[in-house]
Amino acid sequence: MSTSISLHSVTRTFPARDGGESFTALEQVSLEVAAGEFVVLVGPSGCGKSTLLDLVAGLAPVTSGEVLLDGRPVTGPGLDRGVVFQQYALFPWRTALGNVEFTLEAKGLGRRDRTRVAREALDLVGLRGFEQRYPHELSGGMKQRVAIARSLAYEPEVLLMDEPYAALDAQTREGLQDELLRIWRRTGTTVVFITHGIDEAVYLGQRVAVMTSRPGRIKEVVDIDLDRPADATSDLRSEPEFARYRREIWELLHDEVRAAGRLEEAGVR
Ligand code: ADP
Ligand code: MG
Repeated sequence: MSTSISLHSVTRTFPARDGGESFTALEQVSLEVAAGEFVVLVGPSGCGKSTLLDLVAGLAPVTSGEVLLDGRPVTGPGLDRGVVFQQYALFPWRTALGNVEFTLEAKGLGRRDRTRVAREALDLVGLRGFEQRYPHELSGGMKQRVAIARSLAYEPEVLLMDEPYAALDAQTREGLQDELLRIWRRTGTTVVFITHGIDEAVYLGQRVAVMTSRPGRIKEVVDIDLDRPADATSDLRSEPEFARYRREIWELLHDEVRAAGRLEEAGVR
């Protein structure tokens, strides 16, 4: 069971603070994510990626247009969606284990199952032995791994991830990419994943949506048609096909980053 996501002509503006013009973060964004699909969003910094994810998460309202989950408008956050934020959001008064167990309580798992599933998830992200640590006793990367373990353990219908691996070292990141793909294949969850890593986008996505710089729109959606061996023994990243996709997305993105740079030089925020 999983859930489709539809964005129809979504615009999101923020009111001006000083009585000036309101700011358009997203303009007429339309995107269809099929149930069980893995879509990656890339775009220059400030183009509205996090804003888009917030709308799907139900944490902010659209200004116009609509966001639908399985055809029903999003009206607020829900247990069907799991979110991993750019900044780790852990409960400071709960241990690593307690943080992962928390969402499993919401899901109705019994105490023993909660602990077992939470321990397994912390193992997966390399945090065995740190179960009883509190967030202030963990490094930034470790806190982010707790947040990732929490979302993976929960196995939501829709998984929304905002640059979740940006703060991790390359080895941990690649390990967690494979782990995420394994869980996605097993559960058929629908994933929207934001990254500024082009390799990460090509490696993970079935489709990669490239956004324009301000205001954010979908510039192009690239189908990634790579043969992914289920055992992940061969190195997909060194295949010529992979390099072609990397190049294609790099070029799409490059124009937008340049455009964003020019706006900044001109003093446009
Ligand atoms: P990205 O995640 O692609 O880097 P964001 O979605 O965080 O971009 O932000 C898009 C634009 O919207 C930025 O210019 C940002 O300053 C602006 N923005 C985001 N949230 C708010 C807010 N709550 N109020 C005003 N402006 C905002
Ligand atoms: Mg962001």
